[in-house]
Amino acid sequence: MSSYNIETKCIQSGYEPGNGEARVLPIYQSTTFKYASSEHMGKLFDLEESGYFYTRLANPTNDAVAGKICDLEGGVAAMLTSSGQAANFYAIMNIAEVGDHIVCASSLYGGTYNLFAHTLRKMGVEATFVDPHCTEEELDEAFGENTRAVFGETIANPALVVLDLEKFAKAAHRHGVPFIVDNTFATPINCRPFEWGADIVTHSTTKYMDGHATCVGGAIVDSGKFDWTANAKKFPGLTEPDETYHGIVYTEKFGAMAYIMKATAQLMRDLGSIQSPQNAFLLNIGLETLHLRMPRHCENAVKAAEYLKGHEKVAWVSCPALPGDSQYELAKKYMPDGTCGVITFGLKGGRDAAVRMMDSLKMIAIVTHVADARSCVLHPASHTHRQMNEQELREAGVQPDLIRFSVGIENSEDIIADLKQALEQV
Ligand SMILES: *Cc1c(COP(=O)(O)O)cnc(C)c1O
Repeated sequence: MSSYNIETKCIQSGYEPGNGEARVLPIYQSTTFKYASSEHMGKLFDLEESGYFYTRLANPTNDAVAGKICDLEGGVAAMLTSSGQAANFYAIMNIAEVGDHIVCASSLYGGTYNLFAHTLRKMGVEATFVDPHCTEEELDEAFGENTRAVFGETIANPALVVLDLEKFAKAAHRHGVPFIVDNTFATPINCRPFEWGADIVTHSTTKYMDGHATCVGGAIVDSGKFDWTANAKKFPGLTEPDETYHGIVYTEKFGAMAYIMKATAQLMRDLGSIQSPQNAFLLNIGLETLHLRMPRHCENAVKAAEYLKGHEKVAWVSCPALPGDSQYELAKKYMPDGTCGVITFGLKGGRDAAVRMMDSLKMIAIVTHVADARSCVLHPASHTHRQMNEQELREAGVQPDLIRFSVGIENSEDIIADLKQALEQV
């Protein structure tokens, strides 16, 4: 990890050109790499030597961008995936198998909820969802002998619940399992979960990291701190021989890098959700300005939240960075410099008024996206979360009237003017 400040890491980490090489990270638009001898290639396949041979397993462009994200989070190893969904799927399946169990904060992104509650269950991995504000005792009760991980989002999409990272980390470690945090909304600019006890961090890089809504992508970062061997019985995939690699033991061979090496060598090899080098290149350009964009997103979000809060047609506003918000104290502790650009609100006219207002917006667009430079809105109950029933919606912290507003980095006066004229139509 470099010793630079985070702003410098956004620009400089990951790629270091040698003498006479391209100043900007090149796109290695190549599926494969050439070697002089058959023997050398064989060693690569055996993980005896490091080197590139096939882009599904590793690519220099992807590695450089993963290296930058790793540095931003303060980890020891990282990998890119084709989407945030793939990142969360791999993060769990790298350490859980049929008969295993995970504990999750119930305030989750809708796609992650579906993945954990339904698809993972079909694959034999059960999830218990806990209220993020539960007591330590209630949290302990969710664990079983077969629990293999704890999972939560720093700031939940779209419930905007701020996770008590220390509480969840301590519970995970009391039970000898790692704490995995989806840090998509906060980004490492505003929160670095490893500093609060998280062991693994995931991202949908599709959101603020890309920042321009150009590429779907994901990332997994390992802190290297979780001691797999101290809990060896729980994690045989990491601590016992892998027959598909001539019996290597990941923890013995790769030490602190074991988790990411296994995820790459096994899961990526077999499931193949790799990010394209072209997308990684664009993601890298987004990362270069992440430290400039995040503060502006946060500033505009607070201004928009304050405006909505003072409007007579608005029933409620949720913005963790706003004093008085139910999440304010947790946000202040874990994200003192700002949270994210996403806020939520409901209108006194309920669901119908929400639809009418959204349809009246001129600059702010209705799109299935959040967290890019352009302001946009979405009605989760009708869109991203429409597969959920009323109770599931409530457990995920999504009221039926909730409008998710991703505040962009336009001039805040223009954003507020658009809200104002749209509210006049309600
Ligand atoms: C969008 C999102 C995901 C899923 O990421 P994709 O890149 O869309 O696959 C996961 N977690 C959070 C918090 C998200 O916002």
